[in-house]
Amino acid sequence: MTDIASTLETDSAVYKTLLESTKAIPWKIDWDSMKFAYIGPQIESLLGWPQSSWVSVEDWAARIHPDERDAIVSYCVAQSQAGIDHEADYRALTRNGDYVWMRDVVHVVRKDDGSVDSLIGFMFDINERKKTEAKLIDLQKELEALSFKDGLTNVANRRMFDSVMEMEWANARRNNQALSIIMLDIDYFKQYNDHYGHVQGDCCLKQVAKVLSSAATRSRDFFARFGGEEFMIILPETDEKSALAIAQRCRNLIFKEQIAHEKSEVSQILTISLGVGTIVPSHQDELMKFIELVDRRLYQAKQKGRNCIAS
Ligand code: GH3
Ligand code: MG
Ligand code: MG
Repeated sequence: MTDIASTLETDSAVYKTLLESTKAIPWKIDWDSMKFAYIGPQIESLLGWPQSSWVSVEDWAARIHPDERDAIVSYCVAQSQAGIDHEADYRALTRNGDYVWMRDVVHVVRKDDGSVDSLIGFMFDINERKKTEAKLIDLQKELEALSFKDGLTNVANRRMFDSVMEMEWANARRNNQALSIIMLDIDYFKQYNDHYGHVQGDCCLKQVAKVLSSAATRSRDFFARFGGEEFMIILPETDEKSALAIAQRCRNLIFKEQIAHEKSEVSQILTISLGVGTIVPSHQDELMKFIELVDRRLYQAKQKGRNCIAS
């Protein structure tokens, strides 16, 4: 053997060892025959399919998840025909029926006349990265939901209330429609906490929120925790008479729960006070003033002896 030949042989042995010991899986496809000229043996440990089972591009296409198969195949073919290096992420079928996220990075080798000679590329296992990405997206969604939800009672929070209220206020003004709100506050809740403890106080708040959230049933009716033990109901396109009926339903729903409250000065069971307001907002009206008005009515209900509705 000449020196050059032996050097070349040593070199190619080195390259082969390098290629077959990396985590990335090398491959080559001959463009004219659309057959694999080579695929790294690592493919078997990743997907389970033996090296010898990768014969033509059909074997590759058949092992792409059906949801993205057509899009991936046509993208790769188009890029290759145009002679453009490219990459594609897809789920590859494993021999035991699972899917693994892969990234294929493809280099197009051209002949002297510019036509495609072959494709060479590397497949990367990106399963862990995809899983992390998916987890991050889930967390992001959860965070968005949480930032509009009250952590204790799971109903909409004050922030959500502010957004919905502003939207409904603008709607009512634009369409010249009646808008009602109900502000509800638990009677003697401080005494409830003092007597039964904060933990039971929290449980009670959850129960009250759950019950009250079912009081108004139209699709745009909206229920939120406004503050400590205060709640709000927004009733779009609702006149005063209907709003009062819903306020009364709230009292009945709480009464039906029969939540013991020994230290209440109005009853032996838990009760609520309510302020109700209705408005067809004009351009002179201010949302803040309307909310203050309803807050004052709630205060009147407390003054009147609690466990009642003021409108
Ligand atoms: P009133 O009939 O005038 O409404 O009397 P009240 O005792 O209900 O009113 P006050 O505003 O004095 O007290 C409200 C209490 O609600 C005080 C606070 O300890 C309690 N509270 C507010 N938020 C929470 C909460 O998240 N959990 C619990 N357990 N208690 C809360
Ligand atoms: Mg209270
Ligand atoms: Mg209060």
